[in-house]
Amino acid sequence: MSEKTKFIFITGGVVSSLGKGLASASLASILQSRGFKVRMRKLDPYLNVDPGTMSPYQHGEVYVTDDGAETDLDLGHYERFSGVACHKTDSITTGKIYQRVIDKERHGDYLGATIQVIPHVTNEIKDFILSDISDEDFVLCEIGGTVGDIEGQPYLEAIRQVAYDLGRERAMFIHVTLLPYIPAAGELKTKPTQHSVKKLQEYGIQPDMLLCRSQCPIPQNEKRKIALFCNIREENVIAALDVENIYQVPIAYSHEGMDRQVCKHFGIECDGEPDLSKWEKIVDIIRHPEGEVKIAVVGKYMQLLEAYKSIHEALVHGGIANKHKVKIKWVDSELLEKSEPDIYLSDVSAILVPGGFGQRGTNGKIEAVKYARENNIPFLGICYGMQMAVIETMRDVAGVTNAYTTELNPNCEPVVGLMTEWEKDGDKEKRTQDGDLGGTMRLGAYPCVLAKDSLARKVYGTDKISERHRHRYEVNMKYEKQLNDAGMFITGKSPDGRLPEIVEIPNHPWFIGVQFHPELKSKPFDPHPLFVSFVKAAIDKQNKK
Ligand code: GLN
Repeated sequence: MSEKTKFIFITGGVVSSLGKGLASASLASILQSRGFKVRMRKLDPYLNVDPGTMSPYQHGEVYVTDDGAETDLDLGHYERFSGVACHKTDSITTGKIYQRVIDKERHGDYLGATIQVIPHVTNEIKDFILSDISDEDFVLCEIGGTVGDIEGQPYLEAIRQVAYDLGRERAMFIHVTLLPYIPAAGELKTKPTQHSVKKLQEYGIQPDMLLCRSQCPIPQNEKRKIALFCNIREENVIAALDVENIYQVPIAYSHEGMDRQVCKHFGIECDGEPDLSKWEKIVDIIRHPEGEVKIAVVGKYMQLLEAYKSIHEALVHGGIANKHKVKIKWVDSELLEKSEPDIYLSDVSAILVPGGFGQRGTNGKIEAVKYARENNIPFLGICYGMQMAVIETMRDVAGVTNAYTTELNPNCEPVVGLMTEWEKDGDKEKRTQDGDLGGTMRLGAYPCVLAKDSLARKVYGTDKISERHRHRYEVNMKYEKQLNDAGMFITGKSPDGRLPEIVEIPNHPWFIGVQFHPELKSKPFDPHPLFVSFVKAAIDKQNKK
């Protein structure tokens, strides 16, 4: 690690869901606009080893990195805003920290010592924070949860120690809080923020900056009051007002002087303003689109749309590239099992079936595929969505009525089956039916070769791609001939030709299923080609209506 690397620790107070991840990602992006090299990390205090086994209702989407880490969705914000790829070394949980400590204890590494939270657990957290850094100017570390949570305490102690070890000139604490507005009093309330800062101070952490979420502007006298009571410079009380769309946040923070104050904290001269033109361009298109297009996402986690965070963003990006606003119609797939799909899908210009697990809502997803195929509606199936598309064609076109996935029925015609063996970087990965569920899927980036004359090849503009995966089951190659006879073609395969990655129906305006998750790599300023093309197909469909 270079001597110049500085650490910014972001904590949250008062309530959860304050958008710390977005705040961290936005700060990283403004610092980049000032020419700095950044890295972003997330420390999650829960006891799961990773979020991979958690229900999307508990946790929202599981974000997967190129190197196969299953992580918090905030890493998606980090990558989308900064364009810097996250790695395994950028995401940790208490479960993983304890796993490491206990492994070392069993190995005899601490021989003689009584293993304690301080120093053994905190040292492991510190090692994580300081590891795998080269010449970054700033490493931004976001601590999950809210200050005061019992699980978060070792993390606060660890970041206090890092700041102590490195010196305060190389560390900064930013605390994100909420100023609730009480309509009856007509006032923003600062007390919860004061209490939250007091709590941090109990742990030996004096925040250097407060980022105050608020639904209305914060009067200067309130900022002064917060500054005085929280022992912070007034210019470092930054207002984070609600904005219409998340891509305005870097611009809003910079206008509030956040990057300037961060530089000042570290004694870095900063002349002029950062170049935020790329964000301004994006915000301008979002505010003044040339048109709108309605696209259905047929999934099953409709009560918590965070489960489809990256899909939502990738569709927005596809819209930006086509200068259109994408209106997403979230359709609960279970509804399509109870009534005619037409009721829910007749007003949309494209249909996307996202990834998923388990039985609930599966038949509704198959209905959605059928509706898209039969009515020439542009269709994108992602992971489970692709598997459902293959099952639909096998059942409804090839006439194999019990075609299904062994994930749901071991006695079906196994068109989709458990992957038991595949190649990863030249080595063999093996799985069995009764193996562990955690961290054992086919995870991360794998290469895929695209067939000549395929739509996929045209869309990507190349014949070899790399995309991120997260699945345990796969389409069985054995059915390729039957699928072809039914009009569906496997146009993307692993380089050894053994794993199907993309399916298409050429006799359809736009029908693609992908075994990977393209949404994870889409960025507002670098939209994913599949989403750009899919949204374009939706606009074409709409124009023909
Ligand atoms: N449940 C399917 C599998 O494990 C699909 C997973 C997904 O959609 N991410 O293969």
